Amino acid sequence: MNDDDMQFSRRSFLWSAGGAMVAAPLAAAQVPHIDLPPLPGEPLRWAVVGLGRLAVFQILPAFAASRASRLTGLVSGSPDKARHLAQLYGVDARHIYDYDSYDSLAEDPEIDLVYVALPNSMHAEYTIRALRAGKHVLCEKPMANSAPECEEMIAAARETGRKLMIAYRLRYEPFNVELIRIARDPAEMGPTRIIEASAGFSIGDPAQWRLRKAMAGGGSLMDIGIYALNASRYLTGEEPTHVTAMMDSTSGDPRFAEVEENITFQLRYPSGILANCASSYGVGMNRFRVSKPEGWAELEPALSYRGLRMRVGRGEVVEQRPQRVVDHFAAEMDHLSRCVLDGTEPLTPGEEGLRDMRVIAAIYEAARSGETVALS
Ligand code: NDP
Repeated sequence: MNDDDMQFSRRSFLWSAGGAMVAAPLAAAQVPHIDLPPLPGEPLRWAVVGLGRLAVFQILPAFAASRASRLTGLVSGSPDKARHLAQLYGVDARHIYDYDSYDSLAEDPEIDLVYVALPNSMHAEYTIRALRAGKHVLCEKPMANSAPECEEMIAAARETGRKLMIAYRLRYEPFNVELIRIARDPAEMGPTRIIEASAGFSIGDPAQWRLRKAMAGGGSLMDIGIYALNASRYLTGEEPTHVTAMMDSTSGDPRFAEVEENITFQLRYPSGILANCASSYGVGMNRFRVSKPEGWAELEPALSYRGLRMRVGRGEVVEQRPQRVVDHFAAEMDHLSRCVLDGTEPLTPGEEGLRDMRVIAAIYEAARSGETVALS
C-alpha cells in the first residue's frame, strides 16, 4: 500500500467512526482494527537554486503538497525576487544565498538538499558545488550539456557520499508508472512492439537562453524531446542499440539560428522494440503510445504538469483509465528526501541522466551524418 492509499484509508476510517458516533457510540469490539501509517518524521530541508519560471510556478508551490520535504533556503542572482519569495514562503533571510555566496551553504545546517533549477549549462557547476558543500542534489533535466559533465557530477556525488538525482518527474507520477507496467507486462495484450513518443511546444522569445546553444546545449531535443527519449527507455526498460534521426528548422526563423527546431529519431531496442520519437520547438505534441499485438495504451497529454489522460484500446473497445493525481514536483522531492532518510538510491540517479545524454549525442550525430549510429 502506498502513502496516499494509506492516507485514504485513514480518512475513510475517521469519517465512518465519526458518522457512527453521531448515530450511536460504537462498542470497542466493533471498532475495526486499522493499521494507521506511521507519523511522518521531521521533513528534510531544501534550498531551491535559480528562481525562474519552473521554480516560482511549480517547485516552490509544490512544498505545500510534500510530506518529507520543506523549503528552508533560496539561491538567486536577483535579491529583490529572492526576498519577496522568502517572505511568501516563510524562508528566513539568513538562508538566502546568491551565486557568489553559494559555497557557504556548507556552513548552513538548516539545508539538507539543493534543487538545481538553473539553465542547463549551469547544472554541472552548481550541482558539484552543492555536493562539495555536503548537500544532496536534485538536478533538473537535461542533467548537463554533455556526457563528460554528467560523469563529473556522478564522480562528485561518489566522492562526497551525497545523493544525486535527476528530476525526471514523470517517473514519480501514476499515469506514467501505469503505462510502464502495461508496456513491460506481456500478459497485457502481448509484448510491446512499437513505441511512439512525441513532445513539443511552440517556443516564444528568440532572446531566451533555451535558444542559445552555449546555455541550452542544443534545441528542442535537449529541452522537451528528452521526455520522448526517456519515455521510450523507461517504457521498454532497455537501452537502445541503434539510432537514426533527421532534423530541420524553419528557414530564416531567428529563433532557430543556433539550435534545432524539429528532430525526429528512431531507436532500436535489444528485444526488437522500435521507438519512433519526435521533438519540436515549433508545434505542440504531448503523447506516449505503446502498441502490442492485441491492443495499445497511450497517454495524451503524457507530460503536462496536470490533466494527464490514459486510454487503452483492444479492438473496437477503447477505455479511459484514470489514475491517482499527484503533484509531480512534490512526488519527486519526497522521493529524494526518503532516499536520504532511508539510505537508499533514487530511481533516477545521475547515471540515468548520463544514459540519456549519451543517446542524445548519438541522435545528433545520426541527424547530422544521415547514418545509423550504433550505441555500445
Ligand atoms: P528560466 O529561464 O525561467 O529560469 C532560470 C533561472 O535561472 C533564472 O530566473 C535565474 O534565476 C537563474 N539564472 C542564473 N543565471 C542565469 C542566466 N545567465 N540566464 C538565465 N537565467 C539565469 O528557466 P526555467 O525555470 O524554465 O528552467 C530552469 C531549468 O528547469 C532548466 O534546466 C529546464 O530544462 C528545467 N525545466 C524542467 C521542467 C520540468 O518539467 N521538469 C520544466 C521547465 C524547465 P535568478 O534570477 O533567481 O538567479
